[in-house]
Amino acid sequence: MTPKKYRCNACRTTSPLCFTDSALHREKMRHRYLAHTGHRPDGERIIDVPVASLFDIPRGQVIATVILLLAVAAVVLAR
Ligand SMILES: [Zn+2]
Repeated sequence: MTPKKYRCNACRTTSPLCFTDSALHREKMRHRYLAHTGHRPDGERIIDVPVASLFDIPRGQVIATVILLLAVAAVVLAR
């Protein structure tokens, strides 16, 4: 499951990241009961939080990492 957050626009608050559907449901219901006496607030929504992948790393950072790893390997092999 893609990590998600519960957002209540009425209260202008967003939950922490939820990694399971049950955790997200608990966050939503807890907020409804504590802040809205169990009612569904207008404007509540679920936000998908995209997970970063290796392809999201900037090219310059990839090149710098490869150079650093090659330098470390050269030092280790030179001993
Ligand atoms: Zn609210």
